[in-house]
Amino acid sequence: MAEETRVVRASAKTRLRRELRFLRTRVRELKMIGKALVSTKHPILVHLIPMRQCNLACTYCNEFDDFSKPVPLEEVEKRLDALADMGTSIITISGGEPLMHPDLDEVIRHMRRRGMIAGLITNGFYLNKERIERLNEAGLEHLQISIDNVVPDEVSKKSLKTLDGRLVMLSQYAVFQVNINSVLGSGVKDPEDALKIAHRAVELGFTSTVGIIHDNNGQLKPLGPHEQEIFEEVMTLGKRSFSRFNEFQHNVARGREHHWRCRSGSRYLYICEDGLVHWCSQQRGYPGIPLSQYTPEMRHREYSTKKFCAPRCTVSCVQQVGILDNWRDPQNLKPMPMKPPATPQAELVQIGQGRGHS
Ligand code: SF4
Ligand code: SF4
Repeated sequence: MAEETRVVRASAKTRLRRELRFLRTRVRELKMIGKALVSTKHPILVHLIPMRQCNLACTYCNEFDDFSKPVPLEEVEKRLDALADMGTSIITISGGEPLMHPDLDEVIRHMRRRGMIAGLITNGFYLNKERIERLNEAGLEHLQISIDNVVPDEVSKKSLKTLDGRLVMLSQYAVFQVNINSVLGSGVKDPEDALKIAHRAVELGFTSTVGIIHDNNGQLKPLGPHEQEIFEEVMTLGKRSFSRFNEFQHNVARGREHHWRCRSGSRYLYICEDGLVHWCSQQRGYPGIPLSQYTPEMRHREYSTKKFCAPRCTVSCVQQVGILDNWRDPQNLKPMPMKPPATPQAELVQIGQGRGHS
């Protein structure tokens, strides 16, 4: 039997633990939404980078290196404490490849101890039964893997072929929720790949989302009719994912600009390995202030700051956070003069939670 058709049922004990963790996380997510609607003073989602190094080198990625050391546990915990004190609801650990961090389990434990919802974005290559069980024990609640193609190529090794065995292990042992993200758009050789990946995700009991790549000039470009059909089908498959409610995704599929209020620097924070606060992975350098010096006044200012990059934004997780505040508080401040972003706009429009590690 081909690897991609193998389905192994989890034990009754794992299924029960999974259902209980899912229900607890959903309750916590609903509380998170309630708290976000009542007050605009705390971050809703933070992406934290404890490890910039990655074991892969996807050619489209601008978020990794092959040399940097892990941020020491003590320092990561200090950052988590600062975020918890701000009232942060969700932390997603990203990279680089976070599973290369030697103390990742302890990092996740600390997030849970401080009452925050714990998520992880990984390329999945280091997952095995023992590692999955350690993540279960640490209290992980969400895990996302982006899969770029069915068969590995020169652009990306994150393929269904290389990862399917790990996905089967996740379906067998993970008690946390798993989302599989696939991609569509220019540069994707075969759009049917996204559909195959999404169907495989659902077959294994995971949620599925899809990312859209725009053209090489970073311009929004509508998908062709067949790709749009695939897009809609994958979106329908992603039943349990909140992302399907986001109108942004449908605008991007049709190549339209999206008008919304980006609350990065306030409701969403990106904390790099150096402990600096940035608007997001694609606007590193703004505001570039150490987390320990990032005051409530600064967050408040960013809340009201209009982001020049919003109409063609590539970062869907910030769009999803924005839904909670789009209906209120128009933005009328200009960004403070700062050094230019360290990295250019990525060519990817990220839907669900993106192709890479953002
Ligand atoms: S790229 Fe998107 S998420 Fe990042 S600052 Fe601009 S509008 Fe916000
Ligand atoms: S996309 Fe992810 S797996 Fe690929 S190089 Fe970047 S960080 Fe590594």
